[in-house]
Amino acid sequence: MPLDVVETLRNLVATPSVNPMGQDDSGDEFYEYRMTDRLERIFSEMGLPFERQEVAPKRSNIVARLDGNDQVIVFEAHQDTVPVNGMTIPPWEPNVRDGRIYGRGSCDIKGGMAAMLTAVSRLAEDRPAGMPTIVMACSVNEEHGYSGATNMASLWDKGESTIVLRKPDAVIVAEPTLLNVVVAHKGVVRWHIHTAGRACHSSTPHLGDNAIYHMARVLQHLEEYARDVAPTLGEHRLLGGPTISVGIVSGGISVNTVPDACVIEIDRRVLPGEDPLAARQHVIDYLAAKLDESVPVTHDDPYIASGGLADGTNAELAATVSRVASDQDSPGELIGVPYGTDGPAFDAIGCPTIVFGPGSIEQAHTKDEWLAIEQLEKAVEVYYQIGKLGLGT
Ligand SMILES: [Zn+2]
Repeated sequence: MPLDVVETLRNLVATPSVNPMGQDDSGDEFYEYRMTDRLERIFSEMGLPFERQEVAPKRSNIVARLDGNDQVIVFEAHQDTVPVNGMTIPPWEPNVRDGRIYGRGSCDIKGGMAAMLTAVSRLAEDRPAGMPTIVMACSVNEEHGYSGATNMASLWDKGESTIVLRKPDAVIVAEPTLLNVVVAHKGVVRWHIHTAGRACHSSTPHLGDNAIYHMARVLQHLEEYARDVAPTLGEHRLLGGPTISVGIVSGGISVNTVPDACVIEIDRRVLPGEDPLAARQHVIDYLAAKLDESVPVTHDDPYIASGGLADGTNAELAATVSRVASDQDSPGELIGVPYGTDGPAFDAIGCPTIVFGPGSIEQAHTKDEWLAIEQLEKAVEVYYQIGKLGLGT
């Protein structure tokens, strides 16, 4: 019996796989290992060979294969979800009402994963003549650095996988695209900037050195950079220009103490083709040129540095998925998006890659995350048809 997509999604939502995103990980819900075990059971029941690749403790990619002809198409979805703080619905009790499924991950991206699994289970039963080989790849840690996809792609590239025996011809990454075909997206580099000072009692501030004042100068120049410099650094027809944003500022311990430390977090979105590390260095050099040498500023190494997804080599794949999607009454429009995905990891090893999945990014990561069942069911049909027909048909 092929999988039922709604039932499958309910089971996936009921399996916590929260990414701590670099924060406190004390709690039962963290990391992907329960999800990996569940996927292992699903692949075993389908009779597919699979492999697990440990990326970090409690965090393993899992990849399975359904054999067809020589063409290899990968369906990829990440196992992790963002945390559940502040949610107004029970995160792991998948409720179905008004044509929607609620729960953490229903939209991002357990829905897409359930649709892919359901399509693969149907293909495993039907075995359509001339179907390509389908690889179902489930990564860890998409939400905080893409290390699962990067490790997976590296294994394939080095020929060390027991499941993916040669470089795939195409990778379709599931993310909520409202059944449009994402052909390009930005990448990101993030890091901390520190300023230092000297603490003293606030009644005698002249005896100290205020780290927050130093940071104020840094912030002023970053605002100039965002307004005057970033827009001159490139333009993509679907994505616009690069951006920079300061998201967090923290410093000081009490109002009656001159602060000796201040730290901010920077988010610099890069265009496809822009090197995230070079983009970061450009900011560092700009600040160094603008700031007085007496301003004690230091830059941590980036904690995330990921390139964007470039359009071009994925044109044929995008055209096929777009055509199949519109045949299945889905929009299938070719679009660019500002957020990142696992996609660039596969693009980087030379696999044409696009992003396609059910649901809207507007419902991802929300306090009452949900997915429309109509989107879910259409996604199954599109993935199934791609798996049946392959590329170039
Ligand atoms: Zn996602």
